Amino acid sequence: MDQDLMALTHTADEYDRYLHAVVPPVFMNSLHVYDRFEDYCNVDVFKDDEYIYGRSSNPTVHVLERKIAALEHGSRAVVFSSGMAACTAAIMATCKAGSHLICMKNIYEPIKRFLSTVGIPNLNFSVTYVSGNDLQEIEDSIQENTALMILESPATFVFRVIDIEAVTAIARKHNVKTYIDNTCLTPIFQKPLDMGVDIVMHTMSKYIGGHSDIIGGVLVSKDEELMRRMMEEMREWFGGIIGPMEGWLAIRGLRTLEVRMKRHQQVAMAVAEYLEKSDKVKEVYYTGLASHPQADIIKRQQKGHSSLMSIELDASTEKAIEFIDHLRLFGKGCSWGGFESLALCPVYMEPEEEVKTLGVDRGLIRLYCGLEGEENLLEDIEAALKLL
Ligand SMILES: *Cc1c(COP(=O)(O)O)cnc(C)c1O
Repeated sequence: MDQDLMALTHTADEYDRYLHAVVPPVFMNSLHVYDRFEDYCNVDVFKDDEYIYGRSSNPTVHVLERKIAALEHGSRAVVFSSGMAACTAAIMATCKAGSHLICMKNIYEPIKRFLSTVGIPNLNFSVTYVSGNDLQEIEDSIQENTALMILESPATFVFRVIDIEAVTAIARKHNVKTYIDNTCLTPIFQKPLDMGVDIVMHTMSKYIGGHSDIIGGVLVSKDEELMRRMMEEMREWFGGIIGPMEGWLAIRGLRTLEVRMKRHQQVAMAVAEYLEKSDKVKEVYYTGLASHPQADIIKRQQKGHSSLMSIELDASTEKAIEFIDHLRLFGKGCSWGGFESLALCPVYMEPEEEVKTLGVDRGLIRLYCGLEGEENLLEDIEAALKLL
């Protein structure tokens, strides 16, 4: 039986609990009350059926957590108000004042900003940035006080991957916890907990929500005690809870996650292959292409590919911007994971030093293929390339 599809369509729905409703209800309430004070005192909010107050837990959100835990092969998932709330909770739960962190250079940019504006000045963190491709560099970066490795695969900009099993083996040997951002592939195409990662993060604002209408995040792990801390300390004290309605919309997003991911992949593959053949395109960065320099690792650890890619045109930065402005079906904006295609130059406004560190063109173009279909997207891209 395909357990992923069961998780999306049935896990935790429990018809008989909710008057045989095929869709679990939105528990739009802030508290739960008891007849006897003693019953109230004995509630353990970490348990499946025990609730007190909405900042601790909510039954609708917990349906979502059970589905995502099943999908990621974790024992427990904790949902947050955003991907960043989830990410910073993971950092705060695993690090303490003075901790050293190892972080990939091309990680989701706001994480670096959190480390440089809060982690380093307020919490006395030290951070070593690594490429993620060089195992020796990673092992050499480990210090006595290294508490956490922050990973992402494939990662933003040029969609490089890390060898997840090899990196987690190094981390385990030195007692360092690992965190990975699995947003790009979703649990449908990659299961990092099975490859030794301690904590998986998803922003549900992207593919899981899938309709560009919610902000949310989630952490998943096999470590029950760590997840109890995430919920009872990190989420409860920082207060980054998701609203019940957003939680419910994320459940609705999950119903079609597998279907959408396969379609996104199919469309993106057609677009990447077309762009790779165009003489106006210098480089295409997409994990689905046979020409990807890490194709062997990708084959080993990914079951599929996202619909995100980057390209470099054989032209100036100005021409790159002209090109994306010529695209009619690709909205110019950040984020991704919804039904609508998007384009932008992600490093265009970064300082020179950062662009150098990342080792990409300032005119790098990121394309997100939505659900408009390959025929429409290719027609749009072809027309925009012709105008160059
Ligand atoms: C958008 C994004 C995040 C942040 O998620 P929010 O829900 O916006 O806080 C983290 N990681 C990746 C890869 C993202 O694309």
